[in-house]
Amino acid sequence: MLDKNYLYTPGPTPVPPQVVAAMGRPMMGHRSEEFAKLHGEIVAKAKLVFQTANDLFVLTTSGTGGMETAIANTVAPGDRVLALVTGNFGERFAKIASAYGGVVTKIETPWGTTFDMDQVIQVFEKEGPFKVVLATHNETSTGVTNDIAALGNYLANTEALLLVDAVSSMGAMDIRTDEWHVDIIVTGSQKALMLPPGLALVSVSPKAWPVIEANHGVRFYFSLLEARKSFEKKNTPWTPAVSLFYGLDAALDMILTEGLTNVFQRHARMTKAARAGARALGLKLLADNSVASHTVTAILPGTEVGASDLSKILQKELGVTFAGGQGQLKGKLLRIGHMGYCSELDVITAMAALEMALHKAGVAVGLGIGVKAAEEALL
Ligand SMILES: *Cc1c(COP(=O)(O)O)cnc(C)c1O
Repeated sequence: MLDKNYLYTPGPTPVPPQVVAAMGRPMMGHRSEEFAKLHGEIVAKAKLVFQTANDLFVLTTSGTGGMETAIANTVAPGDRVLALVTGNFGERFAKIASAYGGVVTKIETPWGTTFDMDQVIQVFEKEGPFKVVLATHNETSTGVTNDIAALGNYLANTEALLLVDAVSSMGAMDIRTDEWHVDIIVTGSQKALMLPPGLALVSVSPKAWPVIEANHGVRFYFSLLEARKSFEKKNTPWTPAVSLFYGLDAALDMILTEGLTNVFQRHARMTKAARAGARALGLKLLADNSVASHTVTAILPGTEVGASDLSKILQKELGVTFAGGQGQLKGKLLRIGHMGYCSELDVITAMAALEMALHKAGVAVGLGIGVKAAEEALL
């Protein structure tokens, strides 16, 4: 088979040629004026994507490292944490808080649904106060998007800090960091930002800084105080992944040139097409329309043919990579990532692959039906 892979994992995602080319630039010293200039420009551009005037840091670590940064700087042993868990990544956020000695109260919602604001308020009022609240904007394991605006609005009138994992949505969906009162929001490079893995971006609100300064918990590599001090000279405390910074600069240029609104609309359309296609093929979607993620579509193939069997056919016979289920949905789910360097036609291709894989697996599926429905959703 031709060595061409169609990558639909919800991270890592395909990297555009412009970004690959930018990363091939010669190395520069990270204590140079040249790096300082690049670093300053990257942060200014990233703030536009984050829709924030808050401080923003580019860290050399994966998305989880960004989540750990948020926790390590705000949670010390004994601190009370409220974790809104809507899937695997919400679970991870809660685990990190526990690892740092946080006393974690969890509100868990069935996978495939979002947190319920009334319930959050009830728990907050009955069991609070909490020092920090953890939420996932886009729960990649289930393909739902939580209402961070409502949560931030409520928490803005409390002492609690709002920490948000937006690893799989920043740069693809309309996230209003400041308008929504998000104190620390985290993303990673290998999702909608169209880069290889290796960077996390984290913004920090004025409300968060005094808490970070007063925090007595352990932190070293992930210290935001060190990051802030270094950034005064557009420096980083430790050696940054310089090549990824080149790439990030190019990727942010692509996003800003396309225009944020256009980027958001493209992702919304891709979701619409993927969902229409899957439905037309008689497949179940895990999330309702009203909460469906714009970057990843989670499909329950049902009992006739298993998700793992379909994955194998897609991979081995068609060179197409979808993601499977995680945690409690392991083996039960097919997840199609459509974020970053991904267009409407890529979703059509994914639907074609899905139809062919179903057919190969012996499912009586009308060829072209998913593709047709996806095309109709787009036209
Ligand atoms: C991918 C992802 C992460 C984890 O990022 P890593 O880069 O694998 O550490 C965290 N949260 C969400 C929602 C993600 O999609």
